[in-house]
Amino acid sequence: MKRIMVTGGAGFIGSALVRHLVLKRGADVLTIDKLTYAGCLASLASVEGLAKHRFLKADICDESRMEEALSGFRPDWILHLAAESHVDRSISSAGQFIQTNIVGTYTLLNCARRYWESLTAEKKDRFRFLHVSTDEVYGSLGDHGFFTEQTAYDPSSPYAASKAASDHLVKAWYRTYGLPTLITNCSNNYGPYHFPEKLIPLTIINAMEGKPIAVYGSGLNIRDWLYVGDHVEALERVTEQGQPGETYNVGGFNERSNIDVVSDICRLMNARFPERGPHERLIAFVEDRPGHDHRYAIDASRLKEELGWTAKTSFSHGLERTVDWYVQHEPWWRPLRSAYEGQRLGLAQNEA
Ligand code: NAD
Repeated sequence: MKRIMVTGGAGFIGSALVRHLVLKRGADVLTIDKLTYAGCLASLASVEGLAKHRFLKADICDESRMEEALSGFRPDWILHLAAESHVDRSISSAGQFIQTNIVGTYTLLNCARRYWESLTAEKKDRFRFLHVSTDEVYGSLGDHGFFTEQTAYDPSSPYAASKAASDHLVKAWYRTYGLPTLITNCSNNYGPYHFPEKLIPLTIINAMEGKPIAVYGSGLNIRDWLYVGDHVEALERVTEQGQPGETYNVGGFNERSNIDVVSDICRLMNARFPERGPHERLIAFVEDRPGHDHRYAIDASRLKEELGWTAKTSFSHGLERTVDWYVQHEPWWRPLRSAYEGQRLGLAQNEA
């Protein structure tokens, strides 16, 4: 049975991954998370207290705590998701993004390397370090074409630039030291337990509360959406079967403009709460954010052809599940929403 260390496991994708590994795969998991505003222990309630799961509140930039965690837990895999992830926050205060996404990844790579070098030959062979990254490193696309694993990096926002830098560090640790690393660059995720500052949960909750639904610019920016449960399965597949040193793009072939996503949510809300509709009247177009990329679209065919992974969840089905989840889980999002409203950064609304 695998022993897996997950960083950022109290976040949106990390918690989905931890629940999947512990509850569906029976793995022993150590979750490491600093519990920033985006980390939420309630997202791990279903694994809390299980012998197969333990939680360590720690900062990935803290080298001695990372060393201790590695030598105490002795993982077969490190799945690295801890990051500052909100583009709008990176524009207003980039420092924490540089610290966590770049310095934190560097710290973790250093500790992982020392730990990996201490393993027996057999364990060394099996060890993997997966770095979970984003398609935003590739910059913006015109109306045609896709990001492939060969697309040159061209990040626009401080967030994207910090993730690009961390990807380069990960590649260097493979090439220079032989650490068996893998990188995934994924499109926008959506699904349950998504922090209510991001486009889909924010739209659902604002619609529930009859508040304005802000849409940047003309709403025609396009993103490729992937259901978080599908992403988690891709991460497991890449770690298990991917070639060390390689990058795999992960995406759902589900391109949607922001205004289409918001309109779809309004339609689902109209069906659930006809007395409060039409929810479309809440849509308000607002000034675009600086450096807003026009279109992201991921070509995930390498993952399909080489590792047999494709996204299973259609956007319409995943969105319906997500809307129902938020309608039914107010006790999860209400405290986060209240904290977020308190520290609101202008219009903080972000697709991913
Ligand atoms: P998230 O913001 O929901 O979660 C990030 C987690 O990392 C939080 O629990 C936070 O407390 C923790 N964290 C932050 N700084 C830390 C530090 N210094 N030490 C330890 N823990 C720290 O993010 P997410 O949406 O779950 O994204 C997870 C990863 O996937 C990120 O690396 C992100 O770049 C990448 N990614 C996200 C998306 C998306 O659509 N959400 C798409 C592609 C890639």
